Amino acid sequence: MNKGKKLYEGKAKIIYEGPEKGTAIQHFKDEATAFNNQKKSTVEGKGVLNNRISEHILNNLNQIGIQTHLIKRLNMREQLVSLVEIIPVEFIVRNIATGSLTKRLGIPDGTILSKPLIEYSYKNDELGDPLVAKEHLIEFKWIKNDIELNFINNLCLRINDFMQGMFRGVGIKLVDFKLEFGKKNIGGKDTILLADEISPDTCRLWDVSSEKKLDKDRFRKDLGNIIQAYQEVARRLGIIHEEANISEVKFGKPKAVNIKNK
Ligand code: 5GP
Repeated sequence: MNKGKKLYEGKAKIIYEGPEKGTAIQHFKDEATAFNNQKKSTVEGKGVLNNRISEHILNNLNQIGIQTHLIKRLNMREQLVSLVEIIPVEFIVRNIATGSLTKRLGIPDGTILSKPLIEYSYKNDELGDPLVAKEHLIEFKWIKNDIELNFINNLCLRINDFMQGMFRGVGIKLVDFKLEFGKKNIGGKDTILLADEISPDTCRLWDVSSEKKLDKDRFRKDLGNIIQAYQEVARRLGIIHEEANISEVKFGKPKAVNIKNK
C-alpha cells in the first residue's frame, strides 16, 4: 500500500498519510527511548512485535464495542488507521503502585490499589509529560467538558477490565498502562476513538508467579532480554507460535496457558 507524506515522527512510531482521505499509516520502529529521550537504543524486532500485540488487543477491544483507530494491519511494521485529532493527554491507568507513582508519593512499590487509579499527563515532550489535574484538562480545552471526560474515564476502566482479564488468563498481571485517544468526525458527530498503541512499550506486565517484568521496564532498568520478554507476551497471547522468531511471525488464535506451568 502506498504511503503518503510523513505527518509525524514520534519516539517509537511514524505516521504517514494513508491511501484515502481520513486514513493514516502507523509504522512501528525498533527505537526504544526512556526518561524523556535521555536513554535511547534500537531493539531489533520490537516494532514487529508491538505491531502484532497492539493489533491483537485493539481488535479484541473493538469486539467488545470499544471504537479504535485501527482499520487493519498491513504488514510486519504497519497498520492502516483512521486519521484522528489526538487529544494531548496521556491517560494512565494503574492497578498496582510502581514507577512514577511510587517515586512521587513514597508509596511502597507493588502496593495493590483498592480500585483502578486514573492519572492524566499533558502530552508534551519539552515539559516531560507533566502530571495534570482534571481541572487543567478542561481549563486548557484539551477535553471539552465533564461529560467528555467521564466518557473517556469510563472507556479507560472498561479497557482495564478487559485487559486485566485477558492478561490474567495467560499468567500476567496488568500493573499499569497508558492510553491515548483521538477525535474524528463520523457522520457529522465528534467521535472518540482509542488511538496510538497498546503493547509492552505502553504497559507494565508482570508474570503472575515470579513477578518477572515482561515490558519496557526491562529497557528502562537495563534488565536485558527485552525482545525475549515481548516475544513471551506475544506467545502467551497466542499471537506467535512457540517456535516462531520475530522474522517469522505466524498467525494464531488466542489461547489460555496453564499458569502452574509458567
Ligand atoms: P509511569 O508514570 O509510572 O512512568 O508510567 C505508567 C505507565 O504508563 C507505564 O506502563 C508506562 O509504560 C506508561 N507510560 C507513561 N508515559 C509513557 C510514555 O510517554 N510512553 C510510553 N510508551 N509509555 C508511557
